[in-house]
Amino acid sequence: MRDILWVLTLSFALVGLTACASTEQAGSAPAVDAVAAGAGNPLLVPSAAPLGAVPFDRVRFEHLAPALDAAIATQRRTIDTIVRNTGPATFANTIEPLERTGSETRMATAAYGVYTSNLSNDTVRALETDYTAKFARLQTETVLNPKLFARVKAVHEDPSTATLGPEAVRLAERTHDNFVRAGAALSAAERGRVATMTERIAALQTRFNQNLLRDTDAFRMVLEEPDLVGLPPSVRSGAAQAAATEGLPGKYVFTLQRPSYEGFMTYAERRDLRERLYKAFINRGDNGNENDNNVVIAELVKLHAERARILGFDNHAALVTSASMAQTPAAVENLLKRVWEPALMQGKADARALQALIDQAGAGHPLEGWDWRYYGEQLRQQKFALDPAEVEPYFGLDNMLQASFFVSERLFGLRFAERKDIPVYHEDVQVFEVKDQGGRHVGLFYFDPFAREGKRSGAWMASYRPQNRLDGAVTAHVSNNLNVPKPAPGQPALISLTEANTLFHEVGHGLHGLLSDVTYPSLSGTAVPRDYVEFHAQLLEHYLLQPQVLKQFARHVGTGEPISDTLIERIVNAEKFNQSHATLEYVASALVDQRFHTLTPAQADTLDPRAFERQVMQELGALRQIPMRHRSPHFAHIFGGGYDAAYYAYMWSEVLDADGFAAFTESGDIFDPAIAARLKQHVYSRGNTVDWAEGYRAFRGRDPAVEPLLRNRGLLGDGGP
Ligand SMILES: [Zn+2]
Repeated sequence: MRDILWVLTLSFALVGLTACASTEQAGSAPAVDAVAAGAGNPLLVPSAAPLGAVPFDRVRFEHLAPALDAAIATQRRTIDTIVRNTGPATFANTIEPLERTGSETRMATAAYGVYTSNLSNDTVRALETDYTAKFARLQTETVLNPKLFARVKAVHEDPSTATLGPEAVRLAERTHDNFVRAGAALSAAERGRVATMTERIAALQTRFNQNLLRDTDAFRMVLEEPDLVGLPPSVRSGAAQAAATEGLPGKYVFTLQRPSYEGFMTYAERRDLRERLYKAFINRGDNGNENDNNVVIAELVKLHAERARILGFDNHAALVTSASMAQTPAAVENLLKRVWEPALMQGKADARALQALIDQAGAGHPLEGWDWRYYGEQLRQQKFALDPAEVEPYFGLDNMLQASFFVSERLFGLRFAERKDIPVYHEDVQVFEVKDQGGRHVGLFYFDPFAREGKRSGAWMASYRPQNRLDGAVTAHVSNNLNVPKPAPGQPALISLTEANTLFHEVGHGLHGLLSDVTYPSLSGTAVPRDYVEFHAQLLEHYLLQPQVLKQFARHVGTGEPISDTLIERIVNAEKFNQSHATLEYVASALVDQRFHTLTPAQADTLDPRAFERQVMQELGALRQIPMRHRSPHFAHIFGGGYDAAYYAYMWSEVLDADGFAAFTESGDIFDPAIAARLKQHVYSRGNTVDWAEGYRAFRGRDPAVEPLLRNRGLLGDGGP
């Protein structure tokens, strides 16, 4: 399970609400801000670049702050205009001005996203800290503005809104709901309490992340060459690089960053060193020092529980899931338990197999947590003889990108053609114009594949411009961002199987943005809940290992020979191997997340996070060798902000993508045109304009089934598909 969700529709992230972004109401005067900010700021005038693209070639860091200030001022003025209107509140004079946002400020927010994610440095980070706080204040004052809420509520309750069609009704509902969930419907005193709590929660999340960062950085395992037995060249060179950076030439440094940790745990023969690294890793944030996060967790859980009660929900998980496809914490618990039980059985069987391997080797010790990855890899090598060095020459970056375009064309009729005339912010970025079968323009696809200093880690999709028809047809501009090592000049870029999978995943998010066909920008493309948005991305991943794709695009970098059928088969089988570990560590984390966030304020009052976590793991019957993927004191997804009560979302989406892809395999054609047409019509093009469960049913003809996921993970006990 990778943690790569980062779908950013920044024009809406500006105030954090899908229905409430910053822009200019038609007829007022953005030019005033442009003048005040200084003439010549390309972010404050309409783009002169082809297809209305952001003029990245002319944008400088100095343009950001004035453009963002103008965006914030614009939002304040828009709200002021709405609330000063003494006439009856209507969809056109209340909701639409809030919607009509991205058009004025989208270039500022797109450029802000690029600087903070793709071109960052200390100066950019200082600006980011500054503007994160400014945006948070803007959000609070927007959603807790009683006059604004009164008008939103009036429109929501006005029967004539229904005459505007189902999309308008949905938008009025979502907007009203967003205000209510933020506390807009409360008394003035309660609104004040909620605002104070929200501010305190944000401060605690920042402290949690800073504690974690310091505790992670405080640990180093410095090794010598003889300690490295078993480690492949890629792991050694990463550790040598880390040592060189720290002024320890000739040594090898391992850290508690996940790639360093997992590389060592998978291959290192030295059991004592594995144990040392393992214990340091699982105790991050839990060392009883000044970076200990247990106190922070206790206060956060309590605040979340209390705030949810004030907002009218039983607990924080109920608040979060009510705006998700899952709808209730019970539905989440039900899914997670359905996966947990068979995974636990498989995990016990796998533990016996690993113990047998240890005994065979005459090592004479019980299987422990620091042995699992190592012996798991040994067993995998034995069974499939799959050497990464044998696989990688077949996975060229360019070929894999073309493979994802091929899948997009076969499924949805899209064609990608590179455009050299669209401005970019870095020489590595490529831009493709996307057209449909009839040659009609669909949108722009930016591709920024290589790792470099100042680029955040991981992979993500960003939206520079959401598709909409609010004031005429506007097409989507989306970007995909990876962190593939840049090859030496003249050398082709080869990527790992994991990276190829990530590439397909992000193209899936990109298609979700590109195929959007809706009226209102805040309902466009990827503006859907976390437990639904990964469905569109993960579905594409299923196509990577299909022979129809690999035989055409996985060609040896030296000889041009297509990959052999037997190698494809070994890759597919090895991918399914040892899934119990990945499943159990993930589901344990997701269940502990749910349990923390279903506590009542009274229960949370006496919370001892360490004891609580231990008790939940005991109740689940978790294996001692497979801890949570993220133990609570370093579970930044849920205590650092963003995924609180929502870590389950990846698995919820995986049920959908496994079941959705099964529709194709059952038909006997992975590109079946009728199924693909339904997929586009009811899933990829609908954005947030329909109920998510209904959209899925319209595509699949029934509710999603969990069996395909269990089968894909080798957990059905039937030997897989
Ligand atoms: Zn994703």
